[in-house]
Amino acid sequence: MAKVVLEKVWKIYPGNVVAVRDFNLDIRDKEFIIFVGPSGCGKSTTLRMIAGLEEINRGTIRIGDRVINDVPPKDRDIAMVFQNYALYPHMTVYNNLAFGLRLRSVPRREIQARVESAAKDLGIADFLNRRPTALSGGQRQRVALGRAIVRHPAVFLFDEPLSNLDAKMRVEMRAMLMHLHKRLNTTMIYVTHDQVEAMTLGDRIVVMKDGLALQAAEPLTVYRYPADTFVARFIGTPPMNIFPGKVSGDQAGFIFDGGAFQLRLPDRMHAQISAVNNREVFFGIRPESLVLREMHPSPQCGTISGAVDVTEKLGNEIVVHVISGGHNFQMRMDSGLFGAVKQNIEVCPKMEHAHIFDGATGLNLTIPASAGATAHAAELKPSGLLAGEQNEKAD
Ligand code: ADP
Repeated sequence: MAKVVLEKVWKIYPGNVVAVRDFNLDIRDKEFIIFVGPSGCGKSTTLRMIAGLEEINRGTIRIGDRVINDVPPKDRDIAMVFQNYALYPHMTVYNNLAFGLRLRSVPRREIQARVESAAKDLGIADFLNRRPTALSGGQRQRVALGRAIVRHPAVFLFDEPLSNLDAKMRVEMRAMLMHLHKRLNTTMIYVTHDQVEAMTLGDRIVVMKDGLALQAAEPLTVYRYPADTFVARFIGTPPMNIFPGKVSGDQAGFIFDGGAFQLRLPDRMHAQISAVNNREVFFGIRPESLVLREMHPSPQCGTISGAVDVTEKLGNEIVVHVISGGHNFQMRMDSGLFGAVKQNIEVCPKMEHAHIFDGATGLNLTIPASAGATAHAAELKPSGLLAGEQNEKAD
């Protein structure tokens, strides 16, 4: 068990490819932490630097109290699980699990005890005599997990371990990983491009883009208080609606002018948005925080009018795509309200869940300091304007 600390870590590949920039993170002992972001944002490189599979160009990585920059991978007390399982095809499951321990001259009895215990935990005890080729994808990935577990490492590293599995198996394996983390009570670092995996598995998630860590916080904090327009649209499905416009007013009251609609902004925002008075900003609201005007508790609510484009019926809920003033946005509601969705609708944002983002940097101006936004969030250009435009999520 160990904490893992990354301080000002950089990775620059030959050809001046800056894969990871000034990465700072304190991973607590026993924490389950997720690196999430689109393909190419530097997640795997960061993980591989912790594993010792990539050299660090600048900065320091510590596991426990030991600086491990120059420690070879086998001496770092870590175990890594890869997307492609990396099993030995000619060995039985038992021997795949036992192999690493034999290399470390662990006594035979101890090996047997560890292998049997891990196999039981992972539900693969009946397959110990099979070869990996005689297993399903999910079973193979369990063997790969088992090979890491028997090592009793201080830190587990996972590089997209569920990406090769079908959707149903991924859900099963997610539950199993959560149980394992509880039972093993060990630090786990997990890389994924899938925001659902990140949200459901992690104690904390680190959202990355272009080699930068933009926000590190608990999943619900990231969802409720995204650091910038990129995080707002990357985390959550459908993504947050983001409308360009202008803020104007004074301490007596600020208005967001989105062209086709105007909204009075809540008092709680005044201190933060006075700095962007009369400037371009983005107004952000999640699809579930838009409600039909007739359902809104306050008859005085600000209104966005629009025409319904399409409606996705998902069973328990529906997602309504609306066009307003040349922009698309989406709202999400209980499917029981389907009958209330007319061709032309008026919707009200629940302003207690609204956000204002800086028009130049994309930074969320209305989140608390405790939301884990890093200074780097300001280095990126605002991304993702309106729901319905190309989504940055990988799938
Ligand atoms: P992710 O895991 O988020 O998909 P990676 O960490 O694999 O991203 O890659 C980050 C960036 O570094 C990408 O631009 C990728 O093309 C580049 N990169 C990764 N490995 C190498 C390498 N061995 N040589 C040069 N560039 C690399």
